[in-house]
Amino acid sequence: MRRLTAKPGEVHRVTDQIYRITLHQPFYAPNQVYLIRDKTTMLIDSGYVESIAPLALALKSLGLAMRDIDVIVYTHPHIDHITGGLLWSQYSRRTERWGHYDMARAIPDYPEFIDIWQADTARILTLAYKDKQARTSRIRRANDRWARFVHRFAEGLDSSGASVRHSSRAEALHGHASSGASVRHSKIGDRAVILDRLLKEGDEFSTGKLHFRILETPGHCTWHITPVETTVGFAFTGDVLIGNIPAIYDKLDGNLELFQQTLTKLLDLRKASPHMRFMPAHGDEIQHPERAIKIVQKTIGILENGLLKKLVEGRKDLVDLMESAFGAHLEGGNHFITALELLEALLRKLMREGRVGSQVYADGHEEFYLKH
Ligand SMILES: [Zn+2]
Repeated sequence: MRRLTAKPGEVHRVTDQIYRITLHQPFYAPNQVYLIRDKTTMLIDSGYVESIAPLALALKSLGLAMRDIDVIVYTHPHIDHITGGLLWSQYSRRTERWGHYDMARAIPDYPEFIDIWQADTARILTLAYKDKQARTSRIRRANDRWARFVHRFAEGLDSSGASVRHSSRAEALHGHASSGASVRHSKIGDRAVILDRLLKEGDEFSTGKLHFRILETPGHCTWHITPVETTVGFAFTGDVLIGNIPAIYDKLDGNLELFQQTLTKLLDLRKASPHMRFMPAHGDEIQHPERAIKIVQKTIGILENGLLKKLVEGRKDLVDLMESAFGAHLEGGNHFITALELLEALLRKLMREGRVGSQVYADGHEEFYLKH
């Protein structure tokens, strides 16, 4: 194993038994990984593959080696939460990994899952832009971003200590998937999402003094769970509440109706346990959970009404709707694709409700209109 020379993630002690480890990553706000120090030592999420060294060093500063981690629980399988865990078996074969019961079946090959995300960026830009040149240049720019991203994933897989033998990085990423059994101890980490325990709504387990119950919280991601610590009162809400605007990829693994149900479920959780603290996977502890949830609910309502109002003017495409919802300044920014995806999620919901229709042209461009 190569020496880990990275800077350790910042450790913040939440309670005697709960620690937050902040890991910087290239795509979004830093990841928060939570460490549970109990009879069972548990991590909630594992960070991005590239931050495995900062995570290991943070653990080391607390006197823990990677093999001391008994369990990693994944809130959901997005790249910045799970890919550290995919590499974990290189360092500790004894660590169990737990997650949503359907996640492993749904993602048999993680690099392919990333390819699907990349393809979806091209898909949404194609439907959004009527002008071919505008479309092509934006897809090219997005692909460049993805190429850097995939490169980092590959780099992470070999520079964090695992050596990639007999294969180039490109092959390591795009070669054929082997069967689950042989993948398990592959030199480049696990291509497949491998789970030692399948979790579903209502499952309970104890780590010693602390007790956990699993809530299924889909919407941001179909396979999103919220581990709830019921003794002291902590909800590890993953990516459900990350700022005022939710990230929902309707054509991938997100769903707006399910997301709204999840928000209600979290409000109910606070009603039942008013002192429950909400710990997200990005950003600081959520100080006022009810308020945070209500702002998100309100934002969704405002965006939906805005879309309907704009469609009264006549047929619009996603770019028109985007400009009227967020202003043209978002164009090209980091959150541009996420904002397009959110508007699409809202439109698909309105289409499922029969309020909006759409026409897809032969070149993939799509226009939306009000029904009736
Ligand atoms: Zn996520």
